[in-house]
Amino acid sequence: MLELKTVNAFYGKAHVLNDLSFTVGHGKVVALLGRNGAGKTTTMKSIMQMVQPRGGTVSYQGQDITGWAPHRVAKAGLGYVPEERRIFTQLTVLENLEVGRQPPREGCVTWTEEMLFELFPNLAERRGNRGKALSGGEQQMLTIARTLMGNPALVLLDEPSEGIAPVIVEQMAHVILKLKNEGLTVLLSEQNLHFAQAVADQVVIIESGTQKFAGSLADLQAHPEIRDAYLSV
Ligand code: ATP
Repeated sequence: MLELKTVNAFYGKAHVLNDLSFTVGHGKVVALLGRNGAGKTTTMKSIMQMVQPRGGTVSYQGQDITGWAPHRVAKAGLGYVPEERRIFTQLTVLENLEVGRQPPREGCVTWTEEMLFELFPNLAERRGNRGKALSGGEQQMLTIARTLMGNPALVLLDEPSEGIAPVIVEQMAHVILKLKNEGLTVLLSEQNLHFAQAVADQVVIIESGTQKFAGSLADLQAHPEIRDAYLSV
């Protein structure tokens, strides 16, 4: 579904992704793990072409999307949920969802507000409230729900469990598994293993923008030294 081949990315002269390669299979949940500053956000942005790779390719459904404009990448079916919540604080929950609405995409779920309220019951109760009245966790949920209104085939979630209450983290795991059940593919980034363990089929560990491990959770469990070397436990 998604393939990165020797992707290199820079901020000015800083070389942040270094020949990074990995794949995300159709219908899988893949966790991109690494410490603070390992390059997770830059990887997400390089996939979306918000940071344009200088070398290497990003392919989506067999098509080379390197160099595309970010809006074209989104239109092709990739939905990006950044780490910082992006909601319209002056608009209501319902209006925020409306803003995200895109035409149906063949082979993908066509999300309606009612389907999303079923997926995010907290938002259903708050549908008439303005974005600014929501808790951090609810804003995070709304950001995801709004992205789903674009009917993506692949969702990129940048540190979805970061800075939210444990009970909401649990709901978040539940949401990700439901998305997988609906046939969506998910790539999420995380700093630690805990959340990934609840949802991921595969993990990719990066450090200094280079892949250090790719495999199943069971494979990783068999190599605690890798976990200790590259993740915050
Ligand atoms: P975090 O968990 O903090 O989000 P991360 O794994 O997502 O970390 P990135 O945000 O991709 O890491 O950052 C990778 C490296 O690139 C870090 O060394 C960071 O300081 C640097 N970096 C990130 N954004 C910029 C920028 N706009 N300009 C210059 N350097 C940047």
